[in-house]
Amino acid sequence: MTRDPDCLFCKIVAGEAGAEITADNDRAVAFRDINPQAPTHLLVVPRDHHADVGDLAAADPTALGAVLRLAAQVAEADGLDAHRIVFNTGAEAGQSVFHCHAHVLGGRSLAWPPG
Ligand code: 5GP
Ligand code: ZN
Repeated sequence: MTRDPDCLFCKIVAGEAGAEITADNDRAVAFRDINPQAPTHLLVVPRDHHADVGDLAAADPTALGAVLRLAAQVAEADGLDAHRIVFNTGAEAGQSVFHCHAHVLGGRSLAWPPG
């Protein structure tokens, strides 16, 4: 288990910070975003600390698969016909928490291209 003691999402995974966890599997945890941008806005994170999705893909593709599998499951559990999965990567792209996370968004129509 890799962990960053200063990382908010590592603390949520460990149960040391509160979050509305809706589902998990052996490698990933899903919880509701504290500032939802759509009727469904979930975050799916690997249990282990990796700064972004590129790092996760390089270090542990099995865990990335577990993140994507759980993302599809929680979208279905929220009754979504359609959803968007977003990995903001780098501050310029909107990443503010540097523990890899998939945003799962749905429940309203989503514009393309994103802003
Ligand atoms: P990013 O900007 O890095 O792509 O996404 C980080 C997300 O984490 C944001 O959508 C933000 O609302 C969410 N977030 C930040 N702090 C917390 C928290 O303490 N709990 C939960 N559930 N979400 C958080
Ligand atoms: Zn972390």
